[in-house]
Amino acid sequence: MRIVVRGVVQGVGFRPTVYRIATSMGLNGWVQNNGSNVIIAVDRDADEFVKRLHEELPPLARLDSVEIVEGDVHDEGFHIVPSSVGQRGVGIPNDSAMCDDCRREMLTPGGRRYHYPFTNCTNCGARFTIIEDLPYDRGKTSMHEFPMCPECRAEYDDPSARRFHHQTICCPRCGPHYYLLDEEGKRIAADDPVAYFAKQMERGAIGVAKSWGGMHLCCSLATLPRLRRWYRREQKPFAVMVRDMEAVRRYGRPDEHEEELLRSPHRPVVLVPRTGDPMNDLISPGLGNVGLFLPYTEMQHLLFHHLKEDALVMTSANTPGEPMVLRDSDALDLKAELYLLHDREILNRCDDSVVRSFGRNTFFLRKSRGHIPSPIDVGLKGSAVGVGAQENLAGAVIKDGRMYTTQYIGDGDSPRVIDFLDASIGHLRRLLGVDELDAVGVDLHPGYTNRRMAKEMAQSAGAELVEVQHHWAHAAALMLDAGLDEIVCLTLDGTGYGADGQAWGGEVLHATFDDYERVAHLEGFPLLGGEMAVRDPRRLVFALSARAGLPLPYFSERDASVLIKLMDRSVTTTGFGRVLDAVSCYLDICQVRTYDGEPAMKLEPYLERGSRTVPMKAELRSGIVGTVDLFRQLADSKGSKEDRAHSFTAALLEALVDAAADDASASGVKDIGLTGGVSYNTTICSLVKSMVEERGLRFVCPDRLPNGDGCISSGQAAVALKKTRN
Ligand SMILES: [Zn+2]
Ligand SMILES: [Zn+2]
Repeated sequence: MRIVVRGVVQGVGFRPTVYRIATSMGLNGWVQNNGSNVIIAVDRDADEFVKRLHEELPPLARLDSVEIVEGDVHDEGFHIVPSSVGQRGVGIPNDSAMCDDCRREMLTPGGRRYHYPFTNCTNCGARFTIIEDLPYDRGKTSMHEFPMCPECRAEYDDPSARRFHHQTICCPRCGPHYYLLDEEGKRIAADDPVAYFAKQMERGAIGVAKSWGGMHLCCSLATLPRLRRWYRREQKPFAVMVRDMEAVRRYGRPDEHEEELLRSPHRPVVLVPRTGDPMNDLISPGLGNVGLFLPYTEMQHLLFHHLKEDALVMTSANTPGEPMVLRDSDALDLKAELYLLHDREILNRCDDSVVRSFGRNTFFLRKSRGHIPSPIDVGLKGSAVGVGAQENLAGAVIKDGRMYTTQYIGDGDSPRVIDFLDASIGHLRRLLGVDELDAVGVDLHPGYTNRRMAKEMAQSAGAELVEVQHHWAHAAALMLDAGLDEIVCLTLDGTGYGADGQAWGGEVLHATFDDYERVAHLEGFPLLGGEMAVRDPRRLVFALSARAGLPLPYFSERDASVLIKLMDRSVTTTGFGRVLDAVSCYLDICQVRTYDGEPAMKLEPYLERGSRTVPMKAELRSGIVGTVDLFRQLADSKGSKEDRAHSFTAALLEALVDAAADDASASGVKDIGLTGGVSYNTTICSLVKSMVEERGLRFVCPDRLPNGDGCISSGQAAVALKKTRN
């Protein structure tokens, strides 16, 4: 008999498990990887075998389908036979945090892997970041340069060993090594580079440390003020790696779900509510949460073993706006004081994932290392690619009813980011065996920097290029995420290119994969000077004040007269995020924006503390929500900043939910969605959720795809494929 298994079954200790079960049952036969599945041949008891396979599945494996078909077996005993290439499309394993067994082994004196920072096994370690091609064998990973030594070979061949048939098995004798460079790129001699690096961190150095899929800029918390000056990053929050859960609780107050996320083998950065620890003001100035994560690579565990401190700043090492660095020479351009590097090549760059919890939902601010490629089932035939919008880019590939997303790519302003996007989509297509495409989905905006790449990709693959409106793509991604095919969706973000050429972002859309209708939206107001108004929230307040007939703030008479002239000439925005920016600025919470989203993010703790006690109501007329009049009510209102901000935001949301609920009841739709970058704000999510549920409808928000623009490519791919094939 043959058992054909599909799922995540390569690079996860699956064949060794098969071997162990088969030999314990005394079966004859073999197991083999090929490109798209694993085939197991047994001479009898296939049903019993499959039952045990389900029970004893290794932690990183996942079975999507198991099929038993006829087939003879002529083997004596049971064998693992060499991989064959075959068809593509096998589950691609994710990187997975170092397991407890390996950690114990690495930290126990006397063993041959004592303090060896590449100690991993079938249950843990780098996967996606080191895979060049499938099937998953050592020769197709960046471990191909490190032939096994006899001792590792013996372990590899030993069915009773933890590393039986483990493809990336290695030890200090045969595997990769860490080394140190000083600020000029000269080697520093040290017996234990990781211990040396730890000591320098405690002495206040700013260092770069290479991990599985990239490099981190590191320093101690005490050095953070210097890092901020050196990196010219005054306000933007940094992610902090902490020793253990005890250290997590020193800086954050995680709930049960957040603790699960922190401990999960994906090991994302988790945004958790801050404690009153004074360090938090340095880590995430003006915000209510702090981004924490636990060590996941072998080196990071070893680093904390040597460190006395319980936390290190760890942020992706890159020149602002550029992808994370990969090569030593590029790392040296960062001008750090110390470099902890290793001699294994990074094949797939992967930034850390960043998540936030909302109830049991996971909001991905970045879906990347550890969570990639994790496919999602979609009910669409054929194959397609989505290339995203302009910011927070990620690519998506659909093949045979499954959608795979690339790692986080970056903002499309740099040509190197677009190259990275192109290469990452290409890599995913190669792994999945997607040569031909039915469709390539692209944003409506004619000037986005990924458009040319998308056109060329469509041409070379014989695919149709399909333009998809930004917020429709958001709604489509939410439908994929939640398994729906129709939704009335609040899509709230800063800016997306509208079908009328204006900047949209406070939208209620009634969407399917075939079409969408703009049910309601915020009243537009001018973005004075376009992008300049996005960078300077005072211009947003100025425009709203001018429209509302209020005194004109901030600017000299001369500047004000210039801005007044721009009132009728500027593009208008309906962006909810822009209105939040304006409120944050108007209430003097954040008047200077130093990073994307800052004013609205700093408004969030105020919204959270406030309550709906100040009377305000937004008018909804012919599908347009009266933003300007509501702003006038805000100006006239009395009370704390917290309550005024909260009441204003709730009033705006209520009008949008009313419009959505009216449309839903008229059309018989039961699901009201919320997505877009604004929906990372959990106070806003809670408000919309209760408003939707009060109206007897079901509230839907993201869980597997990002709320922000990282999901755009997924929505584009689905809409484009639906248009051309389904
Ligand atoms: Zn392990
Ligand atoms: Zn070895």
